[in-house]
Amino acid sequence: MAKVKKNIVALKCEVCKSKNYTMFKTKNVKEKIEKNKYCGTCKKHTTHKETKVD
Ligand SMILES: [Zn+2]
Repeated sequence: MAKVKKNIVALKCEVCKSKNYTMFKTKNVKEKIEKNKYCGTCKKHTTHKETKVD
């Protein structure tokens, strides 16, 4: 089994703080991921920021 150097991170809605998405992130990327994504709780597109997966 080859080890892939990727972390799983969660994307959290900045409005309601729900963790709506998870994605892979390569370890050498230092910047925090920030994406405009649809939030099912807010029922609209909101800013989602990278956070740790529980
Ligand atoms: Zn939300």
